[in-house]
Amino acid sequence: MIDAHIHLEQYEDTALSSMLQSLPEQGIESLVAVSMNLASCIRSKGIADRFPGLVKPAYGFHPEQPLPAEEELAALLEWIVRHAGDMIAIGEIGLPYYSRAEAMERGEAWDTPAYIKLLDRLLGLAARLAKPVVLHAVYEDAWTACDLLEQHNITRAHFHWFKGPAETVDRMISRGYYISFTPDILYEQEIQDLARRYPPELVMAETDGPWPFEGPFTGRTTHPVMVHEVAAAWGALHGYSVSRAKEILTANTVRFYGL
Ligand SMILES: [Zn+2]
Repeated sequence: MIDAHIHLEQYEDTALSSMLQSLPEQGIESLVAVSMNLASCIRSKGIADRFPGLVKPAYGFHPEQPLPAEEELAALLEWIVRHAGDMIAIGEIGLPYYSRAEAMERGEAWDTPAYIKLLDRLLGLAARLAKPVVLHAVYEDAWTACDLLEQHNITRAHFHWFKGPAETVDRMISRGYYISFTPDILYEQEIQDLARRYPPELVMAETDGPWPFEGPFTGRTTHPVMVHEVAAAWGALHGYSVSRAKEILTANTVRFYGL
């Protein structure tokens, strides 16, 4: 299988090396390693260079952090263009749903237009480089992301760990956008409902590691091998055998990312 979304550069170095070395014997053929910012992109590239074939890097700027200064953003965009040949997508990019909600709760001001403008620039780059995009855009933010994707004529969009309202889901399906499920599909009703509704040919499995999970995963370090459990849980919702579920999710990921 393929872990379609993981933050490899956030794992501790020694643990990461032994984890990656053991993946082939654990039935994991590759990973999509997303990045947070320039320093993170450089670390992702270093890991991908050490594990060619296994680690497929994506470069971008994660929305759940303070806005970059103009020089910082310019340096990142320039670096991405220079390394476009070895990346498989622009990501992780998107809109800061959780940071904004926390800021609102604290009664702080929030510059929504600036985050939309940042996403617009990153999508512009993806369109220019003809790369797919890895999106962090949940709930009402996903509608805004759909608007921007359509403006840029981007058809290859992966909304990772997606959750959102029915009308947004319908819009995403009609555009052929992909989503991915994390280990929380084993214990979150909201996610199971979405899994029943979303077309099986537009779905992938991911861990978003090292993000920690609950339920049966409580206390376990998030590991790419957990996508096997994601596949089993997703397959059960559709009446697929475990091996058929793994086959479908892997084929979808290969098709979407052109692996
Ligand atoms: Zn992520």
